[in-house]
Amino acid sequence: MSVPSASALHPRVLPDFDLVLFGGTGDLAMRKLLPALFNRHRHGEMAAGARVIGVARGALTRDEYTALAEASCRTRLGDEFDAEQWPGFAARLHYLRVDATARADYAALSALLGGRESVVRLFFLSTAPDLFTSICCELAHAGAVTPASRIVLEKPLGTDAASANKINETVASAFREHQIYRIDHYLGKETVQNLLALRFGNALFEPLWRRGQVSHVQITVAEQLGVGSRADFYDDTGALRDMVQNHLLQLLCILAMEPPASSAADAVRDEKLKVLRALRPIGDAEAVVNTVRGQYRAGVIGTTPVGGYLDEEGVAPDSATETFVALKAQIETWRWAGVPFYLRTGKRLPEQVAEIVITFEEVPHSIFDGTPSSQPPNRLVIRLQPDENITLRILAKSPGEAMRLKAVDLSLDFAESFKARRFDAYERLLGDAIQGNLTLFMRRDEVDAAWRWIDPIRAAWDADGDGPRPYTAGTWGPSAASALIARDGFSWHGEL
Ligand code: NAP
Repeated sequence: MSVPSASALHPRVLPDFDLVLFGGTGDLAMRKLLPALFNRHRHGEMAAGARVIGVARGALTRDEYTALAEASCRTRLGDEFDAEQWPGFAARLHYLRVDATARADYAALSALLGGRESVVRLFFLSTAPDLFTSICCELAHAGAVTPASRIVLEKPLGTDAASANKINETVASAFREHQIYRIDHYLGKETVQNLLALRFGNALFEPLWRRGQVSHVQITVAEQLGVGSRADFYDDTGALRDMVQNHLLQLLCILAMEPPASSAADAVRDEKLKVLRALRPIGDAEAVVNTVRGQYRAGVIGTTPVGGYLDEEGVAPDSATETFVALKAQIETWRWAGVPFYLRTGKRLPEQVAEIVITFEEVPHSIFDGTPSSQPPNRLVIRLQPDENITLRILAKSPGEAMRLKAVDLSLDFAESFKARRFDAYERLLGDAIQGNLTLFMRRDEVDAAWRWIDPIRAAWDADGDGPRPYTAGTWGPSAASALIARDGFSWHGEL
């Protein structure tokens, strides 16, 4: 499928760059990063000289690497794969065999980068985090870090505050904070941008965005998938560290932050940081009441029978790792005091869905038949996955003679409303990093604050020794998760 010329659609071409992709043959690079870069290319958004240099230990020729990348982009993009544009992108692709821990291997990288010191140089670390230290030290030692260099770090950034601090210290020895892009791909989603537009581009919502008007908030990131081939990593990590510490807390921050003075990166990140610092700590006693962890057992997803977590290859037979977390968070500020934020994430749940649901207070007095509680309250649903849209539930009169109210959804369907090209999260975030826009990336103090809130929960769980509660694959987690929210008189959205 051919696309119209780039200048017709997007006059803004990214500045010239060299992107060095450590882990260039890995799953993330092949499934997400290279297809995202190819999309940027096929829409004409790359400068003529821009290059992508895949780096890994495999003994591949440049042609072999290009063939791997092409196969992956074809699979990933399906009908959108543009065969006509591929040769142009392939010409940008390079491959270098580099063991990230071997100093001598960096000479070839320096040589390939040499002579282009003035262009943006992006080091994307799509490798296990235990290589971050070597890569930063060796890049600095090889003199490859120019003033125009930036480094992009994938999650996980540590396993607790101390280990994250260690990684951040190492990275800081080679790169200044404004050169460090800590990625959370949820923040690159179009709907998250739209949440910002909704809140701060309209006068309508901001007065309602507070206690007194908002009854409670739910953030759900549910996966149907099990642990797959990531068992080694996951069994040491669990859902709290893998999902809550980063994705769910970042969504919470965007949702709950005070209006920043501008859209400048630090103005936004300062406000997000204040939310993290205002979270009420969950220590041993609170963890019992306000958190639930679970682990899936064999069950059925849709019509497909699936095994339990303990049967997964690579999982310890007595593993106590949680594959599900539900918790109640509270933000101790004037705006949010007393408004519960329920967070929920898990594997092997009935749906693949990511959404934020803001439920407003009931009307104080009903002038129509029935009590206020018989009229469902207004609700704003921000859907990030699988489709991206925002709907506002309001009550309207049902046609007919009688004055009967019925809930209807006002829907903002982006695909319908805007015909312009939409960016996938990595397309956007890679573009932002190349353009030097840090707004959607986490600052070091944010990562630290998130871990400082998570660590006591983990410690409380370790201390109580009960382990996660079992739940059947294909259900919404342990029944205790429903009880957690039911205690406050609510129920999870979509779960009846
Ligand atoms: P992966 O499939 O295991 O790939 C690892 C890559 O690193 C491979 O290209 C591997 O190639 C390379 N590598 C390993 N040791 C190396 C060394 N000593 N020197 C140079 N290269 C080396 O991992 P992944 O799933 O792509 O994940 C990469 C990172 O992104 C991880 O930190 C992961 O947690 C994070 N992440 C992944 C996803 C995802 O969807 N996959 C999502 C979010 C975050 P060789 O073995 O040939 O060297």
